[in-house]
Amino acid sequence: MKYYSIAIDGPAGAGKSTIAKKVAKHMNFIYVDTGAMYRALALYFIRNNIAATDKEKIENACNNADVTIEYKDGEQQVILNGENVSSLIRTEEVGNMASASSVYPAVRLKLVELQRSLAKKANVVMDGREIGTFVLPDADLKIYLTAGSMERARRRFLELKERGIEADINEIEKDIIERDSRDMNREFAPLKQAEDAILIDSSNLTIDEVAEKILNFIKN
Ligand code: C5P
Repeated sequence: MKYYSIAIDGPAGAGKSTIAKKVAKHMNFIYVDTGAMYRALALYFIRNNIAATDKEKIENACNNADVTIEYKDGEQQVILNGENVSSLIRTEEVGNMASASSVYPAVRLKLVELQRSLAKKANVVMDGREIGTFVLPDADLKIYLTAGSMERARRRFLELKERGIEADINEIEKDIIERDSRDMNREFAPLKQAEDAILIDSSNLTIDEVAEKILNFIKN
């Protein structure tokens, strides 16, 4: 049986996950959040006091950390060695560790295997950094979603504010630029637009407008 896959890649804070979720719901596809998998492994490294710079320890730790996903009420749950860690992986600390540790091929290959196996079993909307270029090069539709760094920082700032967290928007932008640079300049499977991906700049678009555009591409 042929399963369809939609790849949505782009830098941090471009709105990939919100939009991917919407598109998946509309299409009745499964949403696969690959960032959550990198975050789960990052949590394992933090819990085991492994520094992001310690390549050897990170590579060894990959053998002991089992990451899988499950779905509860349609929401992806990420399971680390049998524990549902979904509510523990959204912190800045985990995000920073995920960004730093995801440069290592051992970390990436471990998760890519899981991601490819999911796309073999179901219709998926998968978001990440290199889904269209590396994980699913034959995806049926590839979107590269981006927005200016200040706009992405502004969105993140408002999201934190809503959660009652004070932050400095300039610091957020600096952090976003640093993460982009690490993702784009890593040697193995860096973030870049696939040749056959459609570029969408969401700087001046609402979530619904972006989702609508993607649904139109699917229709066509
Ligand atoms: O998307 P999210 O912020 O949850 O991802 C956390 C980190 O994991 C990112 O900063 C990125 O460096 C890394 N990542 C990746 N490849 C993916 C998804 C996420 O390298 N497919």
